[in-house]
Amino acid sequence: MAFEYIRPASLEEVFSLLKLPGQVKLLAGGSDLLWQIREHTVSPDRVIDLKGIAALDFIRESADTLEVGALTTLRDLERSAVVRQSFPALAEAAKAVASQKLRNRATIAGNLCQKLKCPYFNQSHINLFMRESLAPCFKRKGRVCHAAVWGNDSAHTIIGKSYCKAPVPSDVAIALAALGASVEFRAENSTRELMVKDLYRADGEPQLEPDEIVTKIGVPRRVKQGNAFVAYKGGPGSFAMVSVAASVGLGETGRICGDPDIYLGGVAQRPYRADNACSFLRAEGLSADMIEEASRFLFSDVEVTNNDVLFKVAKARDLFCEALTKAWKRCGE
Ligand SMILES: Cc1cc2nc3c(=O)[nH]c(=O)nc-3n(C[C@H](O)[C@H](O)[C@H](O)COP(=O)(O)OP(=O)(O)OC[C@H]3O[C@@H](n4cnc5c(N)ncnc54)[C@H](O)[C@@H]3O)c2cc1C
Ligand code: SF4
Repeated sequence: MAFEYIRPASLEEVFSLLKLPGQVKLLAGGSDLLWQIREHTVSPDRVIDLKGIAALDFIRESADTLEVGALTTLRDLERSAVVRQSFPALAEAAKAVASQKLRNRATIAGNLCQKLKCPYFNQSHINLFMRESLAPCFKRKGRVCHAAVWGNDSAHTIIGKSYCKAPVPSDVAIALAALGASVEFRAENSTRELMVKDLYRADGEPQLEPDEIVTKIGVPRRVKQGNAFVAYKGGPGSFAMVSVAASVGLGETGRICGDPDIYLGGVAQRPYRADNACSFLRAEGLSADMIEEASRFLFSDVEVTNNDVLFKVAKARDLFCEALTKAWKRCGE
């Protein structure tokens, strides 16, 4: 478990450190990485602490975009006047994470890049015992998914056919996907951008190359648009069983303009777009009845195998109506 700890002061230094041999991991707030190290799900040779790079900690707004530096804490996001006013879904998602103590440390990039969570992988108090008594799962280079063997429960995905059934754990990713946000990655000689909705591979891992670092997140400002995020969690410190972020715009006549963007967390390995419900609302417009009607389009093809799945589906429909109603009321605020 021993590793070398390095705290560079500039991005240039980070890029040269990323070229060193062995496994190198980036550290921001440390609330996920240190847990991973303790749980032996990663064993880095070197840990590069990014917190010394002040240039990555900012919230800037322009006429058409909000830019958030990778090291911005969730607490700063939740308290920022501009985020609360124009991008309340993002403030609500940040505030939904764990406790204030954790949000004082945890950063936006760390939240997006955190490791998946699964009781058979890294979430159990009796993990050491479980590791000895259960064969390693696919994510630990084993040959089984225990979640698939034991049947679906409320902590796992209900959509998608990946070998792993752990859902995307980041609340912030769900809000950012609905807001049409993008992530900027930088390597020594290149910069690229990816929409947050496309950030995760089919197995739920963020698409980050070993020589890259997330530097900022950009959120476009949409006119006459309202947005909101809501989540259902089992208790304090729990991850969302299911969450919904909605972003909707209204034209002059009160009809929906542009496509509504509604994403769900807790159901798939990536932020899951409610395509059918969005198309229905685009055609029919917004009203309390139509929102209720649209919620029926969610999971129409999901097989409800047990009460956990049934509860998750019902909860998702309730949250869908709540998030959309909140976003609708915020249009033009
Ligand atoms: C008790 C508890 C409850 C939680 N509940 C929730 C919850 O309800 N919802 C939720 O969304 N999260 C939850 N979390 C997870 C928490 O939000 C994350 O641990 C936190 O956001 C990670 O941020 P960090 O800055 O501490 O990341 P770190 O732990 O420092 O890093 C996490 C990962 O991101 C990578 N990384 C960090 N910065 C960068 C960068 N700039 N570029 C590239 N890679 C980077 C690291 O290498 C590492 O792999 C919970 C965590 C705990 C401990
Ligand atoms: S869902 Fe299955 S493969 Fe994925 S971490 Fe859990 S047990 Fe492992």
